[in-house]
Amino acid sequence: MHKPNPKRIEKLVRQLLVELGEDPQREGLRDTPQRVARSYEFLTSGYRQSPRHVVNEAIFESHANNMIIVRDIEVYSLCEHHLLPFYGRCHVGYVAEDKVVGVSKIARLVDCFARRLQVQERLTEQVAEAVMTMAGAEGVGVVMECRHLCMMMRGVQKQNSVMTTSSVLGSFRRRGTTRAEFLSLINAPFRG
Ligand code: ZN
Repeated sequence: MHKPNPKRIEKLVRQLLVELGEDPQREGLRDTPQRVARSYEFLTSGYRQSPRHVVNEAIFESHANNMIIVRDIEVYSLCEHHLLPFYGRCHVGYVAEDKVVGVSKIARLVDCFARRLQVQERLTEQVAEAVMTMAGAEGVGVVMECRHLCMMMRGVQKQNSVMTTSSVLGSFRRRGTTRAEFLSLINAPFRG
């Protein structure tokens, strides 16, 4: 497994600062290479985690066959085209066969894939496939709604556009009624 070398990243960031016309020795920037190296190490820590390890033992027996929804999971990731953040929310639903995954583990699975260089479509699919495999689910649906800083700060500068992606597997793909139930549950107002 590749482990990033912080000293090498620091050196590259120092070079980048020089190339941008900055002075890496000036007060405010002196510790920046070190901070950036640490930050990238964390933001890409998903490469050094496996979904199986993340879920670990948090899989429980259940024969209920109901739809389980985890809504509004925060997502922070980096777009692989610009190395700029995209962020938003993720909604995961699945119908268990005979196992359920601990709720917090679903969120950790999202982080495991989000802390890599990503495109939103692939991130959505990877979360769906991981839940399907880990839970041995009958079907899975994932909807992700994100804002992309590469679109908001540069490029088309569309500050308010939100990108929505979805991935449906198993019974969520086969059955329109299951898909409709999922969509109505993730859109239902929260009354807690
Ligand atoms: Zn981008």
